[in-house]
Amino acid sequence: MDFSLPQEVETLRERVAALAKLRLIPAARQASEVEGPNREIQKILGDVTPEIYPVSAGGRLTHAYRALAICVIREELSRLCPEADHMFAQQGLCGSAILFGGTDLQKQRFVPALAKMERLGSFALTEEGAGSDAGSIRTTAALRENEWVLNGSKHLISHAGYAGTYVVFASTDLSRRAKGVSAFIVESDNPGLSAQPLRFLAPYVVGRLKLDDCRIPRENILGSPGDGFRWAMQTLDVFRAAVGAHSVGFAQAALDLALAYARVHQQFGKPLAEHQAIQFKLAEMATEIQAGRLLVLYAAWQKDYGLDRQASVACAMAKMYASEMANRVVNHGVQIMGGNGLSKEFHMERLYREVRGTMIYEGTSEIQRLVIARQLVRAARPYEGP
Ligand SMILES: Cc1cc2nc3c(=O)[nH]c(=O)nc-3n(C[C@H](O)[C@H](O)[C@H](O)COP(=O)(O)OP(=O)(O)OC[C@H]3O[C@@H](n4cnc5c(N)ncnc54)[C@H](O)[C@@H]3O)c2cc1C
Repeated sequence: MDFSLPQEVETLRERVAALAKLRLIPAARQASEVEGPNREIQKILGDVTPEIYPVSAGGRLTHAYRALAICVIREELSRLCPEADHMFAQQGLCGSAILFGGTDLQKQRFVPALAKMERLGSFALTEEGAGSDAGSIRTTAALRENEWVLNGSKHLISHAGYAGTYVVFASTDLSRRAKGVSAFIVESDNPGLSAQPLRFLAPYVVGRLKLDDCRIPRENILGSPGDGFRWAMQTLDVFRAAVGAHSVGFAQAALDLALAYARVHQQFGKPLAEHQAIQFKLAEMATEIQAGRLLVLYAAWQKDYGLDRQASVACAMAKMYASEMANRVVNHGVQIMGGNGLSKEFHMERLYREVRGTMIYEGTSEIQRLVIARQLVRAARPYEGP
């Protein structure tokens, strides 16, 4: 049994951490929490995103560990530069859906600009009333002559209004629910597409999308009508494990900061780190982070080895546990820093605002529990114990 990461992935982790310290953190400091994507970070990320796309689609991926690579990149980016990670994730969701569902021609036409960060990507599935139950979307796509015409609206969409390339999910047959969902590539210069920003607790770049007689070429469908839900779930599987990695990154940042603070900050004549109650918190934080990281890497490993059936459950476990763990860990971090934990002078305050979303986006904790429980019940063996 070998618990070490493949050398290519370990090297990638070190490279991403170095890039974040040297270039991404300074670029993030230059801008306050403004609306819209940080274009400097976009440019710098062009050095990382090619690592998750094959050479034939404009990337640099030459090994079999794509899911592991996505997870280690996300852990390092979230630990060091959350805005870079959000951007990387949206790019990955959009690019991966095209990679899974697209023809060679579509991959060659749309993926290279995403891989090199020349265009931002967006993955538009959620609607008002169709979040957890994504199969019930009401946006429609109808074929008229040689074009698909999309009508409806999308809610809570990252990069809405800023992306150059959107993967939009719409129903080509409402009566078939999930089996009628199809996926389309929509470019931002389409006059039928408009966006409206939404404001959040953390500086997410999220908005609403409106599709108003949005006409796109017939060949911009991914696969065949009715295939869309499959591409969405295949993409979300990988990115659920990756939200786990993103959560581990937040938790690790909280532990690192709490530890540094507790070693220096004194109460009752000695550093906080020498008080047993604080030490217990630090020990729990470190242990929980390690458990979360192992679940994430195990899920990614299953994905990379093509064990898709088990991988869905492993990805759901990794997402559920790591996101809830990160919320507990960041909460401890705030407590260890006292009032300073809530001050904008320290990164803990940002982590506290950032971490809450991990239990919601890309499938809530409740939905992950449903995925896990359904498989448990389906595969239950007769009881063999005493
Ligand atoms: C910052 C952010 C960025 C996002 N970016 C994107 C994006 O780029 N693209 C995209 O498509 N979506 C995006 N989303 C949407 C996200 O995926 C949804 O918020 C999520 O899937 C939950 O859907 P909902 O918000 O509609 O909540 P709902 O589905 O309405 O759920 C509300 C509550 O009910 C619970 N619930 C629902 N059904 C059940 C059930 N059967 N049993 C038990 N409990 C249940 C949920 O767990 C939740 O607690 C983003 C969301 C956020 C917050």
